[in-house]
Amino acid sequence: MIVDYHMHLRDPEERVDHSLEAVEIFVEAAAERGVDEICFTEHVYYFVQTRRLWDQQYMLERCVHDLDRYVGAIIDAKERGLPVKLGLEVDYLAGRERETADVLAPYPWDYLLGSVHFVDGFPVDQEPGLVEKLGPHEAWRRYFVWLRNAARSGLFDSLSHPDLVKHHGPRPDTETVQWLHEETADAIEAARVCIEVSSAGLHKPVGELYPDPPLLEACHARGVPITLASDAHAPQNVGRDLDHAVGLARAADYETVTVFDRRERRQEPLG
Ligand SMILES: [Zn+2]
Ligand SMILES: [Zn+2]
Repeated sequence: MIVDYHMHLRDPEERVDHSLEAVEIFVEAAAERGVDEICFTEHVYYFVQTRRLWDQQYMLERCVHDLDRYVGAIIDAKERGLPVKLGLEVDYLAGRERETADVLAPYPWDYLLGSVHFVDGFPVDQEPGLVEKLGPHEAWRRYFVWLRNAARSGLFDSLSHPDLVKHHGPRPDTETVQWLHEETADAIEAARVCIEVSSAGLHKPVGELYPDPPLLEACHARGVPITLASDAHAPQNVGRDLDHAVGLARAADYETVTVFDRRERRQEPLG
């Protein structure tokens, strides 16, 4: 089975389009790429219902769309029998776990993806960002502290683009990276969340899949299940380069992929 469990409901020009018609275009694109099931995971900060969570300009500028409309479009598609799931990509906010849970509670999610895009107010995947501000050693250390706390929060089913901090810029020394991978895999195992294998990084400055092979191998050694992701921001990119993501997972000895239904997970054969 090939699934794509990370995408943003947009039109072909990447403009927000939370309509049933937009869902149908994604479903057609997925079918053409041989993807069996897709899960929409719009950014949590695009919705007016989440406004009280934000104090940063980046989010405050974007939280203008209606979460009920987004959820309604995907539920309509599900009721028509289309192979889609209802999800959301949720930024982990240290110290605001209860408020985040309250905002999400009214909706029938299949899947919640946890992300760390900002650490202490600095963007991880924008330039200049966290790495420029703190230097690679401290940026990586602090990013993975946040990611481990996201895992432990109990809010999420999987962690997106798990080593996003490698997006651009220099890295710490090998020994530090190895230690961060091991500590992070331990936390993910203990929290019983999945880890996302994502092709998105191939199209970013880093030019690599997320996560690094040693982090994925450390997760496999601990029995952590995987999810698969393109992180498409337009329908034409659904399922893009998932063959590379599947290859990375297989190289780490994974034989199954995780699918979700109302936040219950099960394993399906990979590929
Ligand atoms: Zn993201
Ligand atoms: Zn995303």
